[in-house]
Amino acid sequence: MLVSAKEMLDKAKAGHYAVGQFNINNLEWTKSILQTAQELNSPVILGVSEGAGKYMGGYKTVVGMVNGMLEELNITVPVALHLDHGGYDACYKCIEAGFSSIMFDGSHYPIEENVEKTKELVAAAHEKGLSIEAEVGAIGGEEDGVVGMGECADPKECKMVADLGVDFLAAGIGNIHGKYPANWKGLSFETLDAIQQLTGDLPLVLHGGTGIPADMIKKAISLGVSKINVNTECQLAFAAATRKYIEEGKDLQGKGYDPRKILAPGAQAIKDTVKEKMEMFGSIGKA
Ligand SMILES: [Zn+2]
Repeated sequence: MLVSAKEMLDKAKAGHYAVGQFNINNLEWTKSILQTAQELNSPVILGVSEGAGKYMGGYKTVVGMVNGMLEELNITVPVALHLDHGGYDACYKCIEAGFSSIMFDGSHYPIEENVEKTKELVAAAHEKGLSIEAEVGAIGGEEDGVVGMGECADPKECKMVADLGVDFLAAGIGNIHGKYPANWKGLSFETLDAIQQLTGDLPLVLHGGTGIPADMIKKAISLGVSKINVNTECQLAFAAATRKYIEEGKDLQGKGYDPRKILAPGAQAIKDTVKEKMEMFGSIGKA
């Protein structure tokens, strides 16, 4: 059964580790992530962007697939199904469809409007037992066509949004989505520290986990980050493994054209990536 992400992240914050949010794109992605979490006895959050939800045939399709796998694959570790960077309407759709967690990304609204809409969605989510994430300060890079500049959130605005009753908070601290450019300045630990001082026990979320060096990840966790989003890294690993299979001509040998065979190396690459991240985040054995 899907669970809200609140309890797993409160435990992570208290225990000084982080739970990974791994975004899903299809059945292989979902199965690889769930099986790895189960094998490693780790809690896990499945992230679904609006674009990925549409691609997979709608939010209800995603809920049906994930719930089916939890049952048929005997997944017993805590799993949250989370809308990633949801707009106002998508949040309501996911609450209705059976997600167990949502993120309302109101970072592009003026702060007053972000506050107003967040307040409303906190009430709607909590009424149905879902957890809710909010974002302050746009996170750089591009995700599903939404381009933001890397910026650092204002700690006072973070405190204001935290006080609305959100369960965890994403704050820009110089992190960006996608691959990091060579001239990236790194995370602003000064900003993160200032945010945590004002928001206390509230779990903080680090978006754009792909390519952030391990020492920076560990330092961020020590300063209150309890949820780390990983998306691009699984995509890169899947693409490289699939490319290798085709380039080696394996699809032309025997029944190598079988889609289950073509997708197998990519699925294994996702598993390896998820395992590596769970080790780095410290969530193994914490289910
Ligand atoms: Zn993000």
